[in-house]
Amino acid sequence: SSFFAGIPMAAPIEVFHMNNLYLQETDPKKVNLTIGAYRTEEGKPWVLPVVRTAEAALAADETLNHEYLPVLGYEPFSKEATKLVLGADSPAIKEDRVIGVQCLSGTGSLRAGAEFLARVIGLKTVYYSNPTWGNHDLVFTNAGFTSLNSYTYWDQINRKVDIDNLIKDLDAAPPKSVILLHGCAHNPTGMDPTKDQWKQICEVVKRKNLFTFFDIAYQGFASGDPDADAWAIRYFIEQGVEMVIAQSFAKNFGLYNERVGHLTIVVNDKSVIPSFKSQMQLIIRANWSNPPAHGAKIVAKVLADPALCQQWFDAIKAMSSRIREMRAALRANLEKLGTPGTWEHITQQIGMFSYTGLTTDQVMHLVEKHKVFLLTDGRINLCGLNTKNVEYVAKAFDETVR
Ligand code: PMP
Repeated sequence: SSFFAGIPMAAPIEVFHMNNLYLQETDPKKVNLTIGAYRTEEGKPWVLPVVRTAEAALAADETLNHEYLPVLGYEPFSKEATKLVLGADSPAIKEDRVIGVQCLSGTGSLRAGAEFLARVIGLKTVYYSNPTWGNHDLVFTNAGFTSLNSYTYWDQINRKVDIDNLIKDLDAAPPKSVILLHGCAHNPTGMDPTKDQWKQICEVVKRKNLFTFFDIAYQGFASGDPDADAWAIRYFIEQGVEMVIAQSFAKNFGLYNERVGHLTIVVNDKSVIPSFKSQMQLIIRANWSNPPAHGAKIVAKVLADPALCQQWFDAIKAMSSRIREMRAALRANLEKLGTPGTWEHITQQIGMFSYTGLTTDQVMHLVEKHKVFLLTDGRINLCGLNTKNVEYVAKAFDETVR
């Protein structure tokens, strides 16, 4: 007998499962539109040149050691991450109403923030968008949330944000529910609320005393402009809303496996900060005790140096432009083929993903017949396209939907 006998098999994590199917496929025509990672025109991962520069400088620094960081992380990184998301002239920064905590990428930031809300503040009800990133439910459940709910987000027929039903659902949420919002480049739909729609969301959040939790995993990567991508967060702050913000530096710095993340907390009364930090230290202590330094030092070095920062802006512009070109190319190829349906949504959506509208059956056909790998909800990562395969993918879509 074994203590481990009878463990039920968990469902596979879809995105990794599909990626593995791609890797195992031997047909040279295969195309990988699964995992949300940037790829170059050659289909290769990209280390940002500015990251290489910062890494070389760190490696040459003989004063560098591998001592533990403080529990709440590397302070220069926290300072820069906070400025990046709130804006250097944020009223919350000027009024000292901000706490910054380095965490393990976006996922760890979500986890630490959710656990703090559940354990310390006693908030146990969360609403996330339908659909949302596949990990939100699991993270909030494991952090101690007991009421997991979704609000309407997507209008499948018109392929846009269903703002009326979104507002209706938030209006019906019990006071003090945590409302999880994607700061920009909504995953998986690629469609964000307009500024007017954000204002409506903010209004109901305030009126119904809901708690705001922003998840921003694509700042700068979405539009090419980090300030534009943080507009919604900064608007909510202007409106006096308290919040926690989970930031990931995986995509916008290409530091996926370095696990660079940050939790920024904006409070209305700065006298709560010392006790907040003391409790947060216990949450972190029990999870990972203190965070890794390498990626945080890279990000801090780049963001604190105007010349390096400019190189980073150039890199995120290059990435977001290539993605936009692939959106245009995919749409143009589909329209040229006269593929049934409408395809403007591909160029209206932003960030890395397009929610194509393809059904699960169509996705399975694409995988089996054409060796084009995507998620069963129809989400594609545009980065998997390049000038050499986009026509092939369009033809595969065309044959599939006819
Ligand atoms: N939130 C969203 C919406 C995401 O898409 C991602 C990345 N897939 C994350 C958070 C966090 O990812 P990571 O932990 O790799 O930073």
